[in-house]
Amino acid sequence: MCIFCKIVNGEIPAYKVYEDSDFLAFLDISQATIGHVLVIPKVHRETIVDLEEENKIFAVVIKLAKAIKTLPQVEGINILSNNGPVAGQTINHFHIHIIPRYIDDQMQIKFSENKLSPEKLTLLSNQIKKKSSV
Ligand code: AMP
Ligand code: ZN
Repeated sequence: MCIFCKIVNGEIPAYKVYEDSDFLAFLDISQATIGHVLVIPKVHRETIVDLEEENKIFAVVIKLAKAIKTLPQVEGINILSNNGPVAGQTINHFHIHIIPRYIDDQMQIKFSENKLSPEKLTLLSNQIKKKSSV
């Protein structure tokens, strides 16, 4: 059983901050910044593409982000989810990181830049559109 499933069923402890019938949120053990929280579905799902589209996890993320924004000195928030080892996922139970941001904190998130031609951008947007439209 995965470590987050063990937190859900109480086998290992966690600093819980929110719980309902479907979701659990708790402090990340390594606090990237002060107040770093993880939100998980109670049911074991590996990545975001394993969730049902009706999944309401983002409603919980919004609720917790509002709460975290009220902590002292919190100026902003990053919402982050690593899906798959290549994306940096180390625990294979889907989770969303809520990472409060402070002036001059040491947290770093860096996007690489790819300049694509308008033709490639058109092709790419059409490929995604085709797969996502109802
Ligand atoms: P990721 O690298 O996106 O898969 O994130 C996994 C996160 O789980 C890391 O930020 C870890 O610090 C965190 N983590 C691992 N074990 C525990 C635990 N027992 N309780 C709370 N957080 C944990
Ligand atoms: Zn699990």
